[in-house]
Amino acid sequence: MGSQRDCTWILGLPGFRVERVEGEDGDATSRVQIRLERRGPRRYPCSGCGRRTRRVRSARDRTWDDLPWGPHPVTLVYRQRRVDCRHCGIRTERVEFADPKARVTRRLRQQIGIDGQSMPTSHAAVRHGVSWGKARRAEQAFLADWDRTRPQKRPRHLGLDEIQRGKGQQFWSVLSDLVHGEVIGLRRDRTTETATTLLTTDLTARQRAAVTAVCTDMHRPDRNAVAAVLPKAEVVFDKFHVLQHASAALDEVRRQEFFRAGAVMRAHGRGKRWLLLRRWKTVRGSKRVELEALFAANRRLFKAYVLREQLDRLWTYRTRCGVLDFLMGWFKALRWQRLPEMERLGDFLLTHIDGIAAHCDHDVRFGVVESLNTTIKAVLRRARGMRDEAMLLLKLKWATAHPIRSARDLARFLTGHSVYSNR
Ligand SMILES: [Zn+2]
Repeated sequence: MGSQRDCTWILGLPGFRVERVEGEDGDATSRVQIRLERRGPRRYPCSGCGRRTRRVRSARDRTWDDLPWGPHPVTLVYRQRRVDCRHCGIRTERVEFADPKARVTRRLRQQIGIDGQSMPTSHAAVRHGVSWGKARRAEQAFLADWDRTRPQKRPRHLGLDEIQRGKGQQFWSVLSDLVHGEVIGLRRDRTTETATTLLTTDLTARQRAAVTAVCTDMHRPDRNAVAAVLPKAEVVFDKFHVLQHASAALDEVRRQEFFRAGAVMRAHGRGKRWLLLRRWKTVRGSKRVELEALFAANRRLFKAYVLREQLDRLWTYRTRCGVLDFLMGWFKALRWQRLPEMERLGDFLLTHIDGIAAHCDHDVRFGVVESLNTTIKAVLRRARGMRDEAMLLLKLKWATAHPIRSARDLARFLTGHSVYSNR
């Protein structure tokens, strides 16, 4: 094998030199064992305080998986000392190229961690020649390290939403930062206690003090929790949830008009539900003709559709008076139409007018709520069956924060140093 000097240079671990390289001759893909020793004087850093000492109690060979050398997977072997530190007592020696207790070097951990964000853990494990368990632990350590060392943001606007997980009625509450579009916390269930825990444990007091508005749906427990934990913050109802209620009302009108009105009408309205629930501006070509035919058959349905489409305008007003005026006008248009579902919707909107009109004072980015939900669903789909909540949260944070936006970001992540430290 090459000279020790060359091997040390190729391995490139600062502070360590290669003593011996072992591998099976002739086998093209055999594992290479690289035995390391510290450079310089025989003084070993304490894992507690980092001070170096020459007082060694005992020593034991330990191994770490490292980046491969060509087709050969690499195992590093180093005799890790137990030192007697003046300040900390008996401690293990600090090994700079790996985390304490980790079975892979930090630079391999970074590669597995980055791969794990775009492929299943099992694929990343095969790619880097480690077991699934090692890859999963490396990935978690990578994500936890990133999350711990990144700067803490203080968002003005929070989102408190629920997501459905799996087929059953299992709901999770998600707390997110609507200014930067990132997930902050995740808890099972959607009770007041869950929301309170999210707001108190996943946010520091400093972060809580910066919040001026929380965007939620009209779900009562969330609102109670916000009022209790963040008395200064205002609740803003999420635009898409409000419009969802409007669509539900429209759907009910459809049911009334077609399905409870005899066989002829029923045949006419069959299979039109999704078409009807779509927004007019997204309906094109032949579908538009279909929709128009549906409206020609039933004017009341047309009226309800128009009323729902108009609700969009609620979010164009910049003053609370404007919002209220618009809603009053909307009510007037409803009169004499005999659309009890829409009237009920109007009453519902009126009782929640405070939260709906609150957007006038807080420019909450409703689009971010939607895009966050899309990302969350994509991660959940990929992580189907993942039992580990902490890991799931870390993956969600990574997926929504997009920490790698350029080649430079990627390069910094691959070196294994903390991205935000100045070392
Ligand atoms: Zn020490």
